[in-house]
Amino acid sequence: MQLLEQRILQNGNVLGENILKVDSFLTHQVDYQLMKEMGKVLADAYRDKGITKVVTIEASGIAPAIYVAESLEVPMIFAKKHKNITMTEGILTAEVYSFTKQVTSTVSIASKFLNENDHVLIVDDFLANGQAAKGLIEIIQQAGASIAGVGIVIEKSFQDGRQLIEDLDVPVSSLARIEKFENGQVVFKEADL
Ligand code: 5GP
Repeated sequence: MQLLEQRILQNGNVLGENILKVDSFLTHQVDYQLMKEMGKVLADAYRDKGITKVVTIEASGIAPAIYVAESLEVPMIFAKKHKNITMTEGILTAEVYSFTKQVTSTVSIASKFLNENDHVLIVDDFLANGQAAKGLIEIIQQAGASIAGVGIVIEKSFQDGRQLIEDLDVPVSSLARIEKFENGQVVFKEADL
């Protein structure tokens, strides 16, 4: 998606070897107009797939996911990151290793929000090694729901996430695909959308 790629080139900052900071429009301050445009493009790719729920993970997946949900006119559910879960009844959980925080946390969704009649689109801000998306897939499968695909805002294609998710037979569509960082600059490869 050209608008997003331009914005990454304008406002993204490469940190170290493999982190892109996009806190001025996506992960901290949020540009709702860009989110709305992105939401529509992701939604259009899945509009005829019978999606009943959009699922993401807090916190920075929520902004893009809500606009995908709005465009598809379905609810958005975000998985919560709990440090301590004392009540397990009625909660679907998965262990997720966070690429940016370098800790493993238990993420959860209340089972009442997903069931075997649901056909789910997963949305997230970044795809790196695929652990967040894999955790969401596990939770959705526990609920007996089916998964249409994973829609990603920014995929870092030099990491293993896409392969991991496609190996689980879940298709991945990304609005921007980063091939590499070169001298602190972002180099794109052709995106899916
Ligand atoms: P994965 O689980 O695919 O390894 O990493 C995806 C998660 O880590 C995303 O939900 C996102 O929050 C975070 N993440 C991964 N790479 C980056 C990055 O380069 N920049 C930012 N801001 N977040 C990232």
